[in-house]
Amino acid sequence: MAGLAVGAVGTSVAYYSWSDTETKQSIGKNMPKYADKPTMLKAAKEIQDVLGEDAVSMDADDLESHSYSEASTSNVSARPIAIIMPTTTEQVSLIAKICTKYKIPMIPFGAGSSVEGHFSTPYSGFSIDLSRMDKIIAIHEEDMDAVVQPGVNWVNLNDTLKSTGLFLPLDPSPTAHIGGMVATNCSGTNAMRYGTMKDWVINLTVVLADGTVLKTRRRPRKTSAGYNLNGLFTGSEGTLGIITEVTLKLAIVPSHFGVATTAFPSVAAATRAATSMIRGGVALAALELMDDVQMRVINQTGGTGGKMWSEKPTLFIKFSGSERAVEDSISAAREIAHAHGGSRFVASLDEKTMTALWSARKQALWAILSVRPEGTQIWSTDVAVPLSNLGDIVEQSKTDASKLGLFSTVLGHVGDGNFHQAVMYNPDIPEQVDGVKKCVDTMVDRALEMDGTVSGEHGIGLGKKHCLEKELGPVTIDVMKTLKRSLDPHWLLNPGKILDA
Ligand SMILES: Cc1cc2nc3c(=O)[nH]c(=O)nc-3n(C[C@H](O)[C@H](O)[C@H](O)COP(=O)(O)OP(=O)(O)OC[C@H]3O[C@@H](n4cnc5c(N)ncnc54)[C@H](O)[C@@H]3O)c2cc1C
Repeated sequence: MAGLAVGAVGTSVAYYSWSDTETKQSIGKNMPKYADKPTMLKAAKEIQDVLGEDAVSMDADDLESHSYSEASTSNVSARPIAIIMPTTTEQVSLIAKICTKYKIPMIPFGAGSSVEGHFSTPYSGFSIDLSRMDKIIAIHEEDMDAVVQPGVNWVNLNDTLKSTGLFLPLDPSPTAHIGGMVATNCSGTNAMRYGTMKDWVINLTVVLADGTVLKTRRRPRKTSAGYNLNGLFTGSEGTLGIITEVTLKLAIVPSHFGVATTAFPSVAAATRAATSMIRGGVALAALELMDDVQMRVINQTGGTGGKMWSEKPTLFIKFSGSERAVEDSISAAREIAHAHGGSRFVASLDEKTMTALWSARKQALWAILSVRPEGTQIWSTDVAVPLSNLGDIVEQSKTDASKLGLFSTVLGHVGDGNFHQAVMYNPDIPEQVDGVKKCVDTMVDRALEMDGTVSGEHGIGLGKKHCLEKELGPVTIDVMKTLKRSLDPHWLLNPGKILDA
C-alpha cells in the first residue's frame, strides 16, 4: 500500500497512519478542491443554527472516535472538523445541501465498527453520525418485515422482535448499526444459511450528495420493477448516498438449535471436512474455523465456556430447524468429521451448553487483542475464494506469515469460503510493517489467482482500495467511477474510499 507512515494521536496511542502529505500525494491526485477550514467552520455554524446546539460536536474525543479505530487496518491522521448528528431524513438532506454549497466532504458514520478505514476522514469535512436516528418505525409481523432508521443496533432490533418469533439473521460486530450494515453489505457467522445484508433489504431511503431524497422501492418482498437500486447502495460504503431509512426482511426464528465443536490434526483436514459437510447436504446454520494458534490464544486468556480447549484447528458448527432435523444433522456432521480425522466431537441442543461451546468463537477477536504485546497492532483482513480452494489458501497464507516471523492467526467463515487473517506487528518497526503489508498483498493476490475476491465481507474502504482494480479490471472501475460522478459530481460523499476520482 503506497503512502503510509507512522503517526500518533493523543498521548498514548501509537498507530499506523497516512500522513497528511502522503494522503494528498497518494490518494488525492485527481480529487476536487474541498472547502478550507474557515469555510467548514462557517458551514458547521450554519447547520447548528438550524438543527440546534447539540446537533454539532467539535469535542476532540468525539473527533477522534469518529475517524480513528484501533480495529482498523487503515487510519489516517486527518480528523473531521465536526460531528453532525441529525435526527430525521429532512435534516440529513439539509446538511447535504449545505455541504454541497460549500464543497465539504460528508462521511456517514454508524457505530464505527468497520475495519478497512471506511469512516476515516482523509480530506477532513463532517462526520455525519446517524446514531440519533435509532427508531424502529414499524414492525409488520404478518409481512415479516421491519422499517427502521439507520441508527438502530441489530442486537436491540432482535431483542425487540423476540415476542414476534422473527429476527434479522445478520451478525457482524454486536455494536453495528443497520445503516452501517447496509453500507458495508455485512455478513457474519449466519451468512452461510441466510446470505448477506443485500438479501435482507426490501427498500432504502437515501439522501444523495446534493440533498435529493429518494426511495429505492416499495414494500413487497420481491419486485422486478426497474433497476435494482438496493443493490447499488448496499455495499457502497457511504460513497453514493446517506441511508436514512431501511425496510428489512425478517426471518423466522428456528424452533431448535444445536452447536458442535470438533478438532482436527490440520487446517487442511478441517477445511476438507467442512467442504464434505456442505457437499454432503448437511443442513448447517454456521460453519466456522479457528486455527491452532487462535485456539492457543483462547487458552492463554484462561479458556472460555468454563474449559480449556484442544489447541488444534477446530470447527465450530451451528444447526437449526426442528429437533429431529437438528439431531440428524449433528449425526451426519459427526460421521463426516470422524472420516476426516476429527476428534473430540462435542454437540448439544441445550442452550447453556451451546453457549459454552460457541464461546471460544465468540471471544476470538477479543482474545487476540488482549494477548498482543504492548506497542503492537493487529492487521485483521479477509478474502474469499471458491470453496474448493479454501484449504489451500489458508495453509499457504499461514506459511507466508510464519516465514515473515510474524504472529498470525486464522479464523474462517469456512461455509462461505471466507477467512480472516489477523497478523500482529509493531508499527514502529519498518521491517514488520513491510512484512505485514507483503503478507496481506500476497494473500489478496492468491485469492485473485483462485478466482476469489479481495474482501468477502469487510469491504474496501481505504485499506483494500489498491487491490480493487486488480479484481475488477479497468473497465468495471470506469463504470463505477461514472456512476459515482453522476450521483456525486463533486466527490463529496466519503471521498478517498473505494475509488479515486
Ligand atoms: C468485533 C468485530 C466483529 C466483526 N464481525 C464482522 C462479521 O462477522 N461480518 C462482517 O461483515 N463484518 C464484521 N465486522 C465489521 C463491521 O462490524 C461491519 O462492517 C458493520 O457492518 C459496520 O457497521 P457500523 O454501523 O459500525 O458502520 P461504520 O463502521 O460506522 O461505517 C461503515 C461504512 O458505512 C458507511 N455508513 C455508515 N452508516 C451509513 C449510512 N447510514 N448511510 C450510508 N453510509 C453509511 C460509513 O461511511 C462507512 O464507510 C466486525 C467488526 C468488529 C469490530
